[in-house]
Amino acid sequence: MKFNKKNYDYLIVGAGPYGSIFAHEAAKHGKKSLIAECRSHIGGNMYTHKEHGINVHDYGAHIFHTDNKMVWDYVNQFTEFNNYINQVVANYKGELYNLPFNMNT
Ligand SMILES: Cc1cc2nc3c(=O)[nH]c(=O)nc-3n(C[C@H](O)[C@H](O)[C@H](O)COP(=O)(O)OP(=O)(O)OC[C@H]3O[C@@H](n4cnc5c(N)ncnc54)[C@H](O)[C@@H]3O)c2cc1C
Repeated sequence: MKFNKKNYDYLIVGAGPYGSIFAHEAAKHGKKSLIAECRSHIGGNMYTHKEHGINVHDYGAHIFHTDNKMVWDYVNQFTEFNNYINQVVANYKGELYNLPFNMNT
């Protein structure tokens, strides 16, 4: 594909969260972006596809967490989140241990 710089304000390499959000925000300010992505999907390493109604994380499990209300409100405009709470335990010889190790261990 030929990139004519007259038609775009930005050429963004990668349609991961960074490139996608940058293009989205630029568009809100009237700027046009061309995104070059070498994979067949957007979302970068956070990409998921659905199998039998379940989100499969193609590049490894991703959990979103923030204590920043502005960030939380921003991401909620794009999708709904569930209330999954990440609790990691290790099973060692039948006993369950917290990960990372803490005072309970
Ligand atoms: C296994 C794993 C688990 C993770 N877990 C979490 C988590 O639980 N919570 C969390 O907040 N973060 C997690 N992360 C981190 C998160 O994935 C990244 O912070 C986020 O994806 C970064 O977004 P990005 O847009 O900068 O880059 P990326 O998501 O890496 O996207 C970059 C995109 O650019 C494309 N690209 C690269 N080079 C080129 C090129 N030359 N030409 C064209 N396209 C190109 C790539 O194909 C890709 O689609 C995890 C990452 C991994 C790998």
